Amino acid sequence: MREIERKCTARFCRVRAIDQKMMPDALSHASALLHSVFGFSAFRPGQEEIVRAVLAGEDVLAVMPTGSGKSLCYQLPAVARPGLTVVVSPLIALMRDQVRALAAAGVAAGSLNSSNEPAENARVLRLLRERQLRLLYVAPERLARPDTVEMLADSDVAMMAIDEAHCVSQWGHDFRPEYLTLGSLARQIGGRLQTLALTATADAPTRSDIVDKLFAKPPRVFVRSFDRPNLRLAFKPKERSSRQLLSFVRERSGQSGIVYCASRRKTEELAETLKAAGVAALPYHAGLDKAVRDAHQDAFQQQDGIVMTATVAFGMGIDKPDVRFVCHADLPANVEAYYQEIGRAGRDGLPADTLTLYGLADMQLRRLQIEQGEQSDDRKRIERQRLGALLALAEAPRCRRQTLLAYFGEASEPCGNCDLCQEGVELFDGTVEAQKAMSAIVRTGERFGMEHLVALLRGERTENILKFNHDRLPTFGVGVDRAAGDWRSIFRQLSATGLITQDLVEHGRWSVTDAGWQVPEGKAKIELRKDLAAGAAGRAKRGERRAAVATVVGEADAGLFDALRALRTKLAQGQRVPAYVVFSDRTLVELATHRPQSLGAMREIHGVGDAKLERYGVPFLEVVQQHARQG
Ligand code: ADP
Ligand code: ZN
Repeated sequence: MREIERKCTARFCRVRAIDQKMMPDALSHASALLHSVFGFSAFRPGQEEIVRAVLAGEDVLAVMPTGSGKSLCYQLPAVARPGLTVVVSPLIALMRDQVRALAAAGVAAGSLNSSNEPAENARVLRLLRERQLRLLYVAPERLARPDTVEMLADSDVAMMAIDEAHCVSQWGHDFRPEYLTLGSLARQIGGRLQTLALTATADAPTRSDIVDKLFAKPPRVFVRSFDRPNLRLAFKPKERSSRQLLSFVRERSGQSGIVYCASRRKTEELAETLKAAGVAALPYHAGLDKAVRDAHQDAFQQQDGIVMTATVAFGMGIDKPDVRFVCHADLPANVEAYYQEIGRAGRDGLPADTLTLYGLADMQLRRLQIEQGEQSDDRKRIERQRLGALLALAEAPRCRRQTLLAYFGEASEPCGNCDLCQEGVELFDGTVEAQKAMSAIVRTGERFGMEHLVALLRGERTENILKFNHDRLPTFGVGVDRAAGDWRSIFRQLSATGLITQDLVEHGRWSVTDAGWQVPEGKAKIELRKDLAAGAAGRAKRGERRAAVATVVGEADAGLFDALRALRTKLAQGQRVPAYVVFSDRTLVELATHRPQSLGAMREIHGVGDAKLERYGVPFLEVVQQHARQG
């Protein structure tokens, strides 16, 4: 291990020396390292601007979706220039994986955390003392210890990269009080230490909290599109849900996937059901013994084709790029959670499938969880809106991706890669319903929330209806022919189409948008979904599914792809590392399709840097060549 580090550091020095002579521009130097160290042929969208700003010494807040490649934004500058980069992350498993992946690419990186072996700690401290360490990962609690601060103040820290920066915000879903001290720790370590904060949470209140609490002065803010075009999006109302699930998983046999469940018991039951059907399934939830949990997580990370049935306890620390599907056996908690969870599929950019099953009972459970929670009223209001946005997505009358991206404030075209684009949905002319709903909003002065408006439409004399004399409005009772659940769905659908909007700040009041004003004037026809009350049966049309492996490589290359996967598994098991640390799926796909015939040609393949070429090039080349001879 020691020797490899020496060699690698030497290699960096050589690369750097050569580059500095030939290409003084810091960015071209970084681009060269992107290729030679990380094995990537180009930046992913968004990365280049951020790396450029970081190299120019700016403080940066980067908001990028999960899987878009945030880590590279600090890893590359850390390798490209002198000084140590301290990476703050709350996720120990993730640190471990990143350190391992960096070591495989020949980068001197380490972490300080409670689960380290003493020998590992000694190695890290030695590298730190010798000023050879490029990246040091620490948990915030560890960083806050006076001895850590002192040690770092004495070394050559150039930048602090704060991962999962939304943890600093009480509005976010994972508030961690230790994050509040990070700003002052950075000052203790390095005066005005350059700071890069990264998050995948796009909420406006969370974002402004991060800026306030982590930065001395406003940083450059980069917000990357939340579109993940390689993820297919689909929702289905539950009808005999374990059969729906089983057929979804079976159509993808041999692929790694996650099935999220709302309860611990269900994760175990589903794992049994899947196992009985011949699927390699393992349960995961916080109630399992730690040893069992770790063993299941390791199996999932290191082997191909494991299906994890899990609660949301599984995922935060998971960085497996080749998860090919995520299925929600129950409705997720809200739209943010949904987006995070499906985001664990297809991080390698290859096609991946998602399916969310939902029923009326799920919706009620989620509502109840919010109402019975111990949060402030403000917080509950935000939670209700986040849940409402997810329900709107479940009931969307048109492209799901458009609806999802609209929630994140992005306009887009129909995607062609969701169930609604591909299979359509039965619609009816809902212009009259839309007019009634909007009339309720407008006649009450655009000042009321959903429940009040539904009561008004249904002609219910609630306390508030009477208090505001709303029983005297012409709209009172015009919607009595429909159930309250239908009306909620109509509000959500109209909101998903951008005709009405709910104010996030002012008590969830609804108002009509400019586009919506066209409707009362009779200028537009509104289509709504026929299956209004979600949970209604009889909708699911079974579209023909593409064969699972063929979505990844063509049939002609499938044999070689399997052989390469088998070699990867063997090497990974021999070295006790996750399969993707050897090579990612994307790399195997390119090897199987481009079939390089020399190490030089292999060097051009995505994910093959110098260190990996040296370590794995020959055995993989042999498999490719063997295949050519046979084939
Ligand atoms: P995030 O932190 O945004 O969720 P990661 O940093 O874990 O995402 O990156 C997700 C995956 O994308 C990783 O497997 C990583 O190796 C890969 N990746 C990052 N940058 C690039 C790039 N420029 N080209 C190809 N793959 C990349
Ligand atoms: Zn679509």
